[in-house]
Amino acid sequence: MTAGRALVIGGSVGGLFAGNLLKQGGWEVAVYERSAEDLAGRGSGIGTRDTLFQVMRRIGIVPDPSAGVSVRSRIALERDGKVSHEFVVAATNSAWDRIYRPLREAFPREDFHAGMTLEAIEPAADGVTAMFADGSRVAGDLLIGADGIHSTVRGIILPDATPRYAGYVAWRGILEESDLPPEIHRALFEHFSFGLPEGELIIALPMPGRDADTRPGHRRYHWVWFRPVDFERGLPALCTDIHGRCHGTAIPPPLIRPEVLEEVKAHADAVLAPQLAFVVARTRVLMLQAIFDLDSPRIAVGRTVLLGDAAFAARPHVGAGVTKAALDAASLADALAELEIDAALARYDRERRAAGSTLVARGRQLGTHLEAQHKPRAERRGAELRHDPAAVLRDYGAAVITPAEMGETG
Ligand SMILES: Cc1cc2nc3c(=O)[nH]c(=O)nc-3n(C[C@H](O)[C@H](O)[C@H](O)COP(=O)(O)OP(=O)(O)OC[C@H]3O[C@@H](n4cnc5c(N)ncnc54)[C@H](O)[C@@H]3O)c2cc1C
Repeated sequence: MTAGRALVIGGSVGGLFAGNLLKQGGWEVAVYERSAEDLAGRGSGIGTRDTLFQVMRRIGIVPDPSAGVSVRSRIALERDGKVSHEFVVAATNSAWDRIYRPLREAFPREDFHAGMTLEAIEPAADGVTAMFADGSRVAGDLLIGADGIHSTVRGIILPDATPRYAGYVAWRGILEESDLPPEIHRALFEHFSFGLPEGELIIALPMPGRDADTRPGHRRYHWVWFRPVDFERGLPALCTDIHGRCHGTAIPPPLIRPEVLEEVKAHADAVLAPQLAFVVARTRVLMLQAIFDLDSPRIAVGRTVLLGDAAFAARPHVGAGVTKAALDAASLADALAELEIDAALARYDRERRAAGSTLVARGRQLGTHLEAQHKPRAERRGAELRHDPAAVLRDYGAAVITPAEMGETG
């Protein structure tokens, strides 16, 4: 196959995996990212899998999978703070910037265009032209939409494939290790902790600190609390600021109303184990994210393809979105290396559609209990009625997703 010119929309992990791998295959690649800021600063904890490191090695990045923060088991904490269940499985948690930064550094600086927002595309039989908010136009043989779950590219090529609200939001926060007093540190820091109040789920885990620091005392602690919120009234209310302006389905942390934050902390006190309630109370900046997922009927249309969350976005319970984005990029690069371009895109569509759908379904399954909170109780069945703590500890995260389900071939 003769390599051509690829335009990548979105310069996060998916766009950079694709950009680096296609460059390696001889393609001329330009990445266009809407944000003008350094995305390494997103700073959340992240579950990783070996496959992710394998794709990084293909790019020439030599990650050290052991350089995260290790936990020895998963525990469920009761309201009274006692451990009700333990599932012994070691894991290493990493941080977003440990994945993002080397990908960014591996990609030529001059081909990464920050502060560029794609607004429209013009397809042709043998290529695509991208049009940006600043009025510029760029033509390529292939356009890769790696612009996330609310993808502009997907909105243009598949306007009916829209994200689906899961019925709940995630409150999130990050603390410094030094914020945890010794007794809380002892109870939490060596575990992946779960709290399962009726109809809700909180997970909490240690992660590397600033600049991926893993030295004791310099690490961080990350929690994510899933709470049901209805779409029509509850979500707009949470996303309305002090001036009465509703920001849609998301709101920047500094604009969240104080009474909303107070409710979260008071509710933590009322329903969570004291260790987890402490962690929530101690968090300085609470972030709010409505949970959506996305299933696409196709991921290649003409010379435009979708990749990462723009193609399929699973709920965060699977903890595998970054790995899926890496595998999408590897599948696309392999197909383009072996076949002529249109046949390659057709193969990519087939391979990664199957893997993406499986992951989305797994995320929905893991979120069954949370989503069911909007159904009348009498209509709920099985996992919709109650969380089984042992099953949650066992099934949560990507460890239960088999290589075949992820579409891994190696
Ligand atoms: C609470 C939570 C926890 C998670 N935990 C994990 C985890 O533990 N492990 C894991 O693997 N995954 C996790 N994920 C999922 C993971 O974050 C995503 O799967 C991953 O970020 C997808 O990467 P992406 O590059 O496809 O999209 P994104 O990271 O969403 O990036 C899209 C990029 O496109 C840019 N963009 C958007 N529109 C335009 C435009 N019009 N023009 C130009 N640029 C544009 C955006 O600015 C952005 O930088 C979690 C997600 C959530 C919500």
